[in-house]
Amino acid sequence: MSSKEIRTRFAPSPTGYMHIGNLRTALYTYLIAKHEGGKFILRIEDTDQERLVEGSVDIIYNTLKETGLIHDEGPDIGGPVGPYVQSERKGMYLDYAKQLVENGEAYYCFCSKERLDILKANSEALKRPFKYDKHCKNLPKEEIQQKLAQGAPYVIRQNNPITGFTTFNDVIYGNISVDNSELDDMILIKSDGFPTYNFANVVDDHLMGITHVVRGNEYLSSAPKYNRLYEAFGWEVPIYVHCPPIMKDVHNKLSKRNGDASFQDLVEKGYIKEAVLNFISLLGWNPEGENEIFTLEELVKIFDYTTITKSPAIFDPVKLRWMNGEYIKRMPLEKFHEMALPYYQGVITNSNIDLLKITELLQTRVEVLGEIPEVIDFFNSLPEYDIAIYTHKKMKTNNENSLVSLKKALPILESLTDWNMDTLHNSMMALAKDMEVKNGIVLWPLRTALSGKQFTPGGAFEIGDIIGKDESISRIKIGIDKLEKALA
Ligand code: GLU
Repeated sequence: MSSKEIRTRFAPSPTGYMHIGNLRTALYTYLIAKHEGGKFILRIEDTDQERLVEGSVDIIYNTLKETGLIHDEGPDIGGPVGPYVQSERKGMYLDYAKQLVENGEAYYCFCSKERLDILKANSEALKRPFKYDKHCKNLPKEEIQQKLAQGAPYVIRQNNPITGFTTFNDVIYGNISVDNSELDDMILIKSDGFPTYNFANVVDDHLMGITHVVRGNEYLSSAPKYNRLYEAFGWEVPIYVHCPPIMKDVHNKLSKRNGDASFQDLVEKGYIKEAVLNFISLLGWNPEGENEIFTLEELVKIFDYTTITKSPAIFDPVKLRWMNGEYIKRMPLEKFHEMALPYYQGVITNSNIDLLKITELLQTRVEVLGEIPEVIDFFNSLPEYDIAIYTHKKMKTNNENSLVSLKKALPILESLTDWNMDTLHNSMMALAKDMEVKNGIVLWPLRTALSGKQFTPGGAFEIGDIIGKDESISRIKIGIDKLEKALA
């Protein structure tokens, strides 16, 4: 490992699903490494066994694979600084903690649960955050040795100073100083001998040669304690990149608890993976210029982590829809057809319908794949509809003139020997001309009769062409019938 190599890591805890914020962290982490030709590492942080959710490691692997955030080292592919799962590194941490005890940066703590509960209750009563009172820090050496020799249960705590300040630098948030009196002597090694998440995280980042630590800003308040650990070991502090929160709106964070979508949920709703990734890249970072559509390769080239913003990013679902629509428009027709096909299943059962023609119509008109069934169901069979939809203010249509148009159109359409977009177009334009009316007076009622819907992908000609002559004639007759009844 050359000392100049950029090494970043995505270090998720397998707690269930891939939150949008986690995926953004993964993306930024990947981009920082790849922009510099460095290594992107996956480390699974499973020290907190109680929070583990079965299957979540697979979700992590799958999401990274599906989004193209391919790691260079990780549990599944190995690498020079493995293992890459914290539970498999369990044995490594105790010696590091003991090293800190030796140089006075940490100490054994034998306090009973009862004593700690009293301390906690006291701070609660005083409405202060809990802080361990360093009781065991002052135990005589002999007493410590004796307790250890007796096998008394212990934890190892960080020994933070109580005066002065600790300052650390974050690329996004700048220099942050905290009063040392606020720093809790956090536990590094638990009574079962295993490390806490906070300790393992620092030791692993060092041992894995991580140069840039990218994570959500909820870790900002822990960073001073991490910094003290690096300094206590005499290790180089990595570059910290804490990312701004992603908000649902001005007041609420985007979160599973708020019922917000995960990456998997969005994909299931019919969002394109590449579009979601592109959208996420802009939650907290703005590229130069107007363009907002980027492939992952392009992002690798232009991403500059020093310009990530501090201010919270708002997850705008309307923008995501728009972006998804752009991805759909820009993909080759065949690819979109393949993606759309599953959404036709069970909706279009009439085998005379040319599905590719529907795809052609939809490509510029649909924003989210999941909406396809409700948009196309009328092709298969005419839905029940209310004749109120024949009336359109702008088109100046109403029941009377709709009926006239349909009655005139019917024999002309019946007599067409060639049934296609051109013959439909030419014959109906000629009809409007003959009737000396605007095209809409003919086309609005016709499209309405053919679809039974107020809004459709495509107009009368496209719909007529797709459903075919017989079905079109029969639907126009139904329309005439409905209008006549209403006017009777
Ligand atoms: N395991 C932590 C999480 O999933 C990541 C913390 C970090 O990246 O340092 O939130």
